[in-house]
Amino acid sequence: MSTPEHAPDQNAQFDAIVVGAGFAGLYMLHRLRRSGRTARVYEAASDVGGTWYWNRYPGARCDAESLAYSYSFSPELEKEWSWSERYATQPEILKYAQHVADRFDLKRDIRFERQVEAAHYDEADRKWKVSTDEGDTASAPILIMATGCLSVPLVPDIPGLDDFAGRRFQASLWPHEGVDFSGERVGVIGTGSSAIQAIPQLAEQAAHLTVFQRTPNFSVPAHNCPLDPEFQAGFKANYPEHRRLHRLGLGSGFGDLQVEPREFGPAVESALSLSDEEFDAVCEGLWQKGGAIFLTASADIVVDERANARLADFVHRKIRATVRDPETADALCPTSHPIGTKRICVDTDYYATFNRDNVRLVNLRRTPIERIVATGVDLSPENPGDEGEHIGLDSLVLATGFDAMTGALNRIDIRGAGAARLTDRWAEGPRTYLGLMIAGFPNLFTITGPGSPSVLSNMLVSIEQHVDMIMDCLGEMETRGATIVEATPDAQEGWVAHVNEVANATLMPKAGSWYMGANVPGKPRVFMPYGAGVGVYREVCEGVVEDGWRGFSFSS
Ligand code: FAD
Ligand code: NAP
Repeated sequence: MSTPEHAPDQNAQFDAIVVGAGFAGLYMLHRLRRSGRTARVYEAASDVGGTWYWNRYPGARCDAESLAYSYSFSPELEKEWSWSERYATQPEILKYAQHVADRFDLKRDIRFERQVEAAHYDEADRKWKVSTDEGDTASAPILIMATGCLSVPLVPDIPGLDDFAGRRFQASLWPHEGVDFSGERVGVIGTGSSAIQAIPQLAEQAAHLTVFQRTPNFSVPAHNCPLDPEFQAGFKANYPEHRRLHRLGLGSGFGDLQVEPREFGPAVESALSLSDEEFDAVCEGLWQKGGAIFLTASADIVVDERANARLADFVHRKIRATVRDPETADALCPTSHPIGTKRICVDTDYYATFNRDNVRLVNLRRTPIERIVATGVDLSPENPGDEGEHIGLDSLVLATGFDAMTGALNRIDIRGAGAARLTDRWAEGPRTYLGLMIAGFPNLFTITGPGSPSVLSNMLVSIEQHVDMIMDCLGEMETRGATIVEATPDAQEGWVAHVNEVANATLMPKAGSWYMGANVPGKPRVFMPYGAGVGVYREVCEGVVEDGWRGFSFSS
């Protein structure tokens, strides 16, 4: 890590400390400052942007439409910023984050290249004491974690990984200068959203690409396109109404370029009420529109296995119609989880890429990786007694995901009242009230924390809602003359039970997904996000506030 531009803070005092300078941290800082509060943001990266700072792999772009995946808090910002494509690329989104930071003069309160290592609540002082890897020490009565749901990359525990003598890259820690794969034999491990975006681009560049797939994922076409300036101007003229719909979570708030507002929500209540031909027509319509709205084919696909299987079958047929080699097509068809129970991938030419002569899919369910060696990957034999295959590689790309939702929080030594450790409290899975506060951890807020819709939503919508609610809560503290706000243990238990109840009424827990913590060895299997949608969640939060901040205790 390079030398930070600023000397470390020494016993610095602020009204609030924020950890993370992605979209959550930036908006939080802006609101804190606008309210006249002093704040310090610590960020591990050397610039703003969070996800969009770190994830620079080829093909990285948003899967929520840019006109929806952007801040709504400033009409001036909305007006002056133009998106060039339906789904913006990573460089464009990063530029947007940098523009926001400059426009609102945020960087002066951010300290970059600072990893927050510890945050301890001092009960006598009623302050959070924060320290970083660069020796900063600072305290504030309020601590806000804007550490991200997908900010801790996972390095797979594959034997021999460190023996590989070629170039190795992690999709989520991509070199800033870019990578030229021309003429190389490249391997990609993983077939989640990151890999599915990267694979078509890597295939264009590399001499040969081998895709190592353990579990296939469902992917739908993005139908990305340039945004016509006139269309964009018309959309923006109606921005308040679009934003209102995003906040209600219609279309999951992912965007509405291809959808008339009246078409928001499920196309039909039950897939089972339609004939095969009728349901196919609904699916085809959504497939042609592109994007995650494909999952809105019917209301029952998240709760009814038979309805879900019909939607999955439609995608299987699309894969088989696209991929010429039947064995490869078969291997690409997901069968081990219901569609929508893992994050749906949104792609450009993913399946068609497997028709290229220079691309090969290795089905790790048949021939698992035995070990990685200096020159490539050794596969186990398919049948006992056979020779295992060696695949020679010049470069290896790991698109193996994240320790999601709790990873960034659990990596910080967070201690609340009575020096209770967060990792102990969460040993059997995260427990929060509304995904916003944790009982026993006074004045500590988590933006898009576990127990809120977060990763099941357009995150910009959820981030803005949480930041606004935190500001309202700070305002309420002032009104009441309180110095401490805390979630009550009862409210937290009730919320955790409700989150589980909502999840268990759906097919979501049936998948070994990162929503369930299933991708991290030893992580408790708990469905972490709140699955009732951002509209319902917003209503719940509004009800809590109307009831005098039900479930929060204020004291001085
Ligand atoms: P982040 O952007 O993750 O920022 C958190 C920041 O906190 C990071 O910069 C990190 O370095 C910093 N940090 C963490 N811990 C510490 C610490 N201890 N000390 C100091 N700094 C720390 N969501 C969507 O809704 N639509 C999309 O299209 C979409 N696409 C995505 C594509 C990719 C490749 C990934 C990985 C995620 C995507 N997401 C998407 C989710 C995305 O994470 C959110 O949309 C959003 O960017 C999160 O913003 P954030 O500020 O909450 O977190
Ligand atoms: P991911 O969805 O968790 O995918 C990780 C992949 O790596 C999986 O295919 C997994 O296989 C594989 N893998 C992990 N360990 C492995 C091992 N030891 N051997 C073989 N394969 C292994 O991670 P991601 O692709 O980075 O996406 C994470 C989330 O980030 C997404 O779900 C989405 O929310 C967000 N994201 C969004 C976009 C976008 O479109 N805008 C792009 C990228 C990321 P198994 O399934 O078998 O474990």
